Amino acid sequence: MTKKDIIVLLETIATYMELSLENPFKVSAYRKAANSIEADGRSLSEIDDFSEIKGIGKGVNEVIWEYLDAGSSTVLDDLKNTVPEGLVRMLKIPSLGPKKIAKINKELAITTMEELKEACQNGRVSTLSGFGKKTEENIFQAIEDLQERPERYPIDKITLFKKAVERVLEDADGVIRYDAAGSVRRLKETSGDLDFIIQVEDVSAFTDSFLNAPIVRETVARGEKKLSVIIEVDMDEINADFRFVTGEEYFTTLHHFTGSKAHNVKMRQIAKSRGEKISEYGIESDDEVVTFDSEAGFFNHFDLPYIPPAMRETGEETETDISEIVGLSDIKGDLHMHTVYSDGAYSVREMVEACINRGYAYMIITDHSKSLRVANGLDEKRLFNQIEEIKNLRDEFPEIDIYTGTEMDILKDGTLDFSNDILKELDYVIAAIHSSFSQTEAEIMHRLKTACENPYVRHIAHPTGRIIGSRAGYPVDMNALIEIAGDTNTVLEVNANPKRLDLSADHIRHSDIRLTVNTDAHHSDHLELMEYGVSVLQKGLIEKNHVLNTFSREDFRKWVKKGK
Ligand SMILES: [Zn+2]
Ligand SMILES: [Zn+2]
Repeated sequence: MTKKDIIVLLETIATYMELSLENPFKVSAYRKAANSIEADGRSLSEIDDFSEIKGIGKGVNEVIWEYLDAGSSTVLDDLKNTVPEGLVRMLKIPSLGPKKIAKINKELAITTMEELKEACQNGRVSTLSGFGKKTEENIFQAIEDLQERPERYPIDKITLFKKAVERVLEDADGVIRYDAAGSVRRLKETSGDLDFIIQVEDVSAFTDSFLNAPIVRETVARGEKKLSVIIEVDMDEINADFRFVTGEEYFTTLHHFTGSKAHNVKMRQIAKSRGEKISEYGIESDDEVVTFDSEAGFFNHFDLPYIPPAMRETGEETETDISEIVGLSDIKGDLHMHTVYSDGAYSVREMVEACINRGYAYMIITDHSKSLRVANGLDEKRLFNQIEEIKNLRDEFPEIDIYTGTEMDILKDGTLDFSNDILKELDYVIAAIHSSFSQTEAEIMHRLKTACENPYVRHIAHPTGRIIGSRAGYPVDMNALIEIAGDTNTVLEVNANPKRLDLSADHIRHSDIRLTVNTDAHHSDHLELMEYGVSVLQKGLIEKNHVLNTFSREDFRKWVKKGK
């Protein structure tokens, strides 16, 4: 549990209170408390007494302690029992806040999205004070958009769906083994549905038990070979298919349904050239069907090494020597992370401990710089305080090299947020764009170029600024950026956060420059996201010597010392 969990709890309580028309003073007590905790520069474990923080009263203090103690909150649970679920769903409508939803509920006796849509069509919503015709139209349009399920979900959302299904499968009747297949297993940026390969003792008993799970919204088709359902998690829906297979055909089927299509085409060509044929059930030659007890066995049959799912993309992986392609275990450190100094959830010390737990040899603390006010960016004074703190921690944790750093904003006009006099005091400087995304490509390239040409900037973070499924990013001439980075000895990042994956596999495939893969962790758990970034490098078939943070502790130290 972190500070952010507490903040989310208090904000959720405030929202539910507004939905149930609670006393506004009570609501604002929770909102104020959430703000005070956010503004407090300490991490959760460093706060002994919440009631000492200004803006936190006795009642809220008790709610926080119950939550820390029991992991749940009676106040929130009671509210959840009284507020209709439909009203909570309406919070997804951009023009509606909790107060307006409460009003709609009270005056029109509406509790579901469907009823609200109908009321918009009948013109009843615009009769309420504070709601005009335009608002009514906007609400109607927003409901239509919400009811239309997106064709594909970004990978971080897909992972939530997948984990929810896996939790059910862990407890379902007679499950012998299962694996997610399809684009989800290949850690593709987006997926349209979920595919599982599953071996069970008794299909009908399993199906009965699975369909009882609360996440199952609808059964699309049920049979001996396949079960298709719609599942719902956090009010979003997705199709999930389960293919029942026997033990013998398990791995050939898993390989087949993992794809990609291009990979499978290549594999079939290889089989054909040997007078064999791949089916879902096994490899067929003249008189026999060969089956396998692992996917590695399947690949080895064709004299290929095991090709990890993330690499199975263009088909090129079947013709490439993949022995030097970077893997998760090659990563020796994380070079981009945040602490409570800016918008992270944990202290420097806690991030150090988390990196040690992952077995890293080095790490860099890179909080935001002063111009990024929304993220509580550090000015020179706070940056120097942090440098002091890091220097002190070095003696205490000799097992890891802790470097000082910054994720410095590249400002709108191309100037940098810190002067060279400040930058030269840091071990490592990352530069990044966080503002003015609507500039022209020429303006953006000017900013990126000035950053790369600065003698202290080692690394450009999330080079396109995209958020998968919600923000395209700013316009970048990628070929030019790769050339500038190469010429100036600046490293380009593959940001491992599954919302970003920036650069993407398409950007780096066949590129020759030095890259780095980092989680941009704002929470110690985020360090685990490294897997997603490595999968991008694997899709790009990038060898480990091209990736900065595969360097050994000594080599990395030399590289940092040497400068640009
Ligand atoms: Zn950033
Ligand atoms: Zn960052």
